[in-house]
Amino acid sequence: MTFSLSPLPAGRQALPCDRRGEGRSLRLATEVRGISILTFGSQWDKLVRSKSCSVGIYCRRDGYWPSTNRALQFDKRRKGAPVGIKAVRGFNDVLPDEIGKWQYVEKTAREVFEGFGFSEIRIPILEPTELFSRGIGEATDIVEKEMYTFTDRSGNSLTLRPEATASMARAYLEHQLYTFDPVAKLYCIGPMFRYERPQKGRYRQFYQIDAEVFGVENPMADAEVIVMLIYFLKKVGLEKLELQINSLGDRVCRPRYREELKKFFTSKSFQLCEDCQRRLQTNPLRIFDCKVETCQAAIADAPKVSDFICLECQKHFDKVKEYLEMAGLTYILNPRMVRGLDYYTRTAFEVVSYQLGSQNAVTGGGRYDNLFQEIGGLDIPGIGFAIGMERLVSLLPKEKEFVLRPHLFVAALGEGPLKEAYRIINQLHLAEVRAELDYESKSLKSQMRRADKLKARYALILGEEELKKGKAVLRNMETKSQEEIPMANLLETLKSKIL
Ligand code: ATP
Ligand code: MG
Repeated sequence: MTFSLSPLPAGRQALPCDRRGEGRSLRLATEVRGISILTFGSQWDKLVRSKSCSVGIYCRRDGYWPSTNRALQFDKRRKGAPVGIKAVRGFNDVLPDEIGKWQYVEKTAREVFEGFGFSEIRIPILEPTELFSRGIGEATDIVEKEMYTFTDRSGNSLTLRPEATASMARAYLEHQLYTFDPVAKLYCIGPMFRYERPQKGRYRQFYQIDAEVFGVENPMADAEVIVMLIYFLKKVGLEKLELQINSLGDRVCRPRYREELKKFFTSKSFQLCEDCQRRLQTNPLRIFDCKVETCQAAIADAPKVSDFICLECQKHFDKVKEYLEMAGLTYILNPRMVRGLDYYTRTAFEVVSYQLGSQNAVTGGGRYDNLFQEIGGLDIPGIGFAIGMERLVSLLPKEKEFVLRPHLFVAALGEGPLKEAYRIINQLHLAEVRAELDYESKSLKSQMRRADKLKARYALILGEEELKKGKAVLRNMETKSQEEIPMANLLETLKSKIL
């Protein structure tokens, strides 16, 4: 949950407190309706700097400042009750008030992708570790430090998938999908796992929508997946997006570029952070991805990949640009964009939204003509992208309504009417009408309050008197107008009036 914070009240002392044994200091930020709000070191600094911020909070209700690791998580939905067992850090629940957005995005993805000739594939969440260490590359952030890897009871090293492309390629090879048609257009929706530092837009379990084309070397496929991606993002309602593209070269030209980069960054190594010192040895291209200020300064004059790519790669890239233009897409050439995974060759692209703060990439993708060989297969080219669901959902238009509202709330007053309400609600459910009932048959006022809270469009009120007359009252919850309707043929009448 989030709160708007104000600075530490005068005279308050910040006390050290430990969160789940992680040794961070907790401080009092503010009090909201008698609830004491505490915040942590880094957020506190932000708060002092900017005078306000919105962050995840831990708090106590009784105003007693904990001096040990006793801070309780405040859960708004449970009216301040302490949460017992909590979800693993970086793993999120998607609650019913959010799920409408997720379902809408997934449904639109299926419609759009299937229209472009793609078929869904479902792949396991767990794979042999080797698939990723070989496919993604040993010298990548993912394989070096972000994988959830463990040994199972039989001694096999397994990894929770950090991305889907390698698994999809494995499935394509394992089931010899190429014998049916060498060209496969596949998409997949599901959770990925990376041990990263959780923050806004970055989680340890996050969802991706992936689409891949296997078996086509032609740059037309590169343009086609980008066109599909942009069409999809616009269809779900995203605006102000920027498509950035680059060519990363291939096995022929990238080694020379890598060497040049290594030389260049070695001369600037005093400016590089610890991680980049390591990247300089293992994978100098990764330095471009570093957010540290001094590294960014070093990157400014680095040689550009566009000055090194070979004629074949240049021709391929020119064609991609031509096909994008033919499809009416505008793009920005970003020679500094490298993708985090080793397997990319030639075309790389990202779609960036400036609404997102520092985690601004909604989606990224590219061509990977070496991946299949790396995982021990045939020489098959591929191109695809992965969209981050959490980041995409956070960008959906605010005015669009995603919450599922009941069509009808059935309010019964008394035991006889409640039984009748049960009969009606069963019929409604079997007719797939979203309807809700108050099981306790409370006062009309409290039932109407609940109907309002659930945003029901209509309420059907059943009282003893009305039932005796063979009637019920149908109330339009928005206009508050109501009318009597006969109980005979009720289902038909309701359907015609409320659907
Ligand atoms: P980033 O530079 O943000 O770490 P990445 O290059 O690691 O991204 P990809 O592996 O290309 O990302 O994944 C594609 C998309 O998945 C990203 O553009 C982003 O929207 C999303 N994504 C990646 N990692 C995370 C994460 N830890 N939490 C939430 N979304 C993520
Ligand atoms: Mg990453």
